[in-house]
Amino acid sequence: MTVFQQNLTLLIVDDDVVNISTLTSLFAQIFTIEVAYDGKAALQKIVSSDIDLVLSKVNAPVINGQELCSFVKNNRLTAHIPIVFLALDANADEEEECLSMGAIDYIALNARPNTILYRVKNHMTMVAQQKKLALVSCTDGLTGLANRMQLDTMLNKEWYAAVRGNHSMAILLIDIDNFKLFNDEFGHLEGDKCLKIVASIIAKSKRRERDFAARYGGEEFVLLLPFTDLKGATQVAELLLSKVREINIQAAKKAFFSMVTISIGVTAYVPSHDKGLVNNPMELLNCADKHLFKAKQNGRNCYSASEEY
Ligand code: GH3
Ligand code: MG
Ligand code: MG
Repeated sequence: MTVFQQNLTLLIVDDDVVNISTLTSLFAQIFTIEVAYDGKAALQKIVSSDIDLVLSKVNAPVINGQELCSFVKNNRLTAHIPIVFLALDANADEEEECLSMGAIDYIALNARPNTILYRVKNHMTMVAQQKKLALVSCTDGLTGLANRMQLDTMLNKEWYAAVRGNHSMAILLIDIDNFKLFNDEFGHLEGDKCLKIVASIIAKSKRRERDFAARYGGEEFVLLLPFTDLKGATQVAELLLSKVREINIQAAKKAFFSMVTISIGVTAYVPSHDKGLVNNPMELLNCADKHLFKAKQNGRNCYSASEEY
């Protein structure tokens, strides 16, 4: 039974084509393989692509294995990546040094192929389990969307990307209308079903790779749209409003409409550290919240939007 349901990537660092070929054929069935012929090329791959484990010759050219290890382990973004060293001339001093620098393992290159295979596989099992845990910890259990913690991370990330790139980003804050009445009339379990349906409509409204949907809390959701101006964001809002209406979930008798509806606060902005009042990621969210309030005041089942704070 394979434990590697996810696609995991192994980076092999070696300047010897025979070693690379042997190691590649050993692991190609289980992992995606990336190859770097020297330490500098390895570093470039580590910072620019999703590497799950590094299997490096100790004395790789340009930047040797220990220097590579030191960089990876001292960088916040890469410190979690395990490094396994393969030693051409294995000895206790070198082993001690490599392990002291944070390498997870040190294996003699002339060890049995299966010994190398199982040791790397065992380390990868830990990586797979950590990735699973990380995914659970940033996912909302009921709807499967990202949770608030993950939203905060993504909002910050996209905010700084938009500041650097000087491009617009949009936020939609989406709230189910009269949801307390819905729960009161149909019960909490039906309420949960309704939340899941609305969440799936929001998830399906993502068009681009970096569009991001999250459950903000309770019956509120956020759709984060990088590279999107107010015109684009209001089009998405219109579409969401009609998709939720079309599903035609019966609303509570005391609700304003006969079917379940949503209200949306929309804002879009080119973020900047120094201009206007919207000068941090939370302000963007506050601005969307103010518009959500307006949409509620305007009768619900609608959006309110502006670039103004
Ligand atoms: P408005 O149109 O102004 O948004 O009114 P509302 O009733 O939707 O808003 P209110 O904040 O008064 O109530 C939100 C309700 O959402 C109350 C709460 O019980 C319900 N809710 C929050 N989280 C969950 C959940 O996980 N499951 C269910 N079934 N209900 C939830
Ligand atoms: Mg609410
Ligand atoms: Mg509500």
